[in-house]
Amino acid sequence: MSDPDDIPERKMRFLFQLRSRGVTDPRVLEAMERIDRGPFVRGHFEDRAYEDTPLPIPCGQTISQPSVVGLMTQALEVGPRDKVLEVGTGSGYQAAILALLCRRVYTVDRHRRLVVEAEEIFQQFGLTNITTRVADGSFGLPEQAPFDRIIVTAAAEDPPGPLLAQLKIGGIMVVPVGQSDAVQTLIRVRRSETGFDYDELRQVRFVPLVEGLGQT
Ligand code: SAH
Repeated sequence: MSDPDDIPERKMRFLFQLRSRGVTDPRVLEAMERIDRGPFVRGHFEDRAYEDTPLPIPCGQTISQPSVVGLMTQALEVGPRDKVLEVGTGSGYQAAILALLCRRVYTVDRHRRLVVEAEEIFQQFGLTNITTRVADGSFGLPEQAPFDRIIVTAAAEDPPGPLLAQLKIGGIMVVPVGQSDAVQTLIRVRRSETGFDYDELRQVRFVPLVEGLGQT
């Protein structure tokens, strides 16, 4: 077990690591300082919560690497009035960070267990502007569309059409795209009056976007 006295120092190192890996937006850093990653990493891996590494969570999924969470949040350019859709709730860590930066977060996962556990942590943090759904997020959330921002935290072969359609004009979507499970490219899509502009941000590795609902 870890020594609780080390936690402040580990958190300092955590923030330092984020900065050194390119997370420089002060609002994103502040949100990541306020949302402790510890509660999102339950069980065996809890004492590794402040390492800049992805870790296993239930249902065979992973909580993303903190610097990737920071870089994706930064790339999303979230504003305080924005309505944001996240596809892939997982542990809830990314959604909690977004919740501090925008008006409302809708977060969707295909595993009910993950959604239920994430909701418990949102309550602990007093985050009241997150709406959760158990659903196949590749279809987005038509009843709440359009969104100012969409973040997909599972890898798709292409940016899903329904998500592009649910993005507002002037909106931004960040999504890992790739054919292989081993490595994908993080893409930022901006919707303009006339169409979609794409730029490639970096190589990433995410679990795949899977069709339909999970068993648990
Ligand atoms: N953002 C998460 C990490 C997500 S891991 C965090 O901060 O911890 C990817 C998640 O995407 C997994 O929980 C997986 O169940 C979910 N997922 C995969 N395909 C999906 C789909 N079609 N619809 C909704 N969620 C999906």
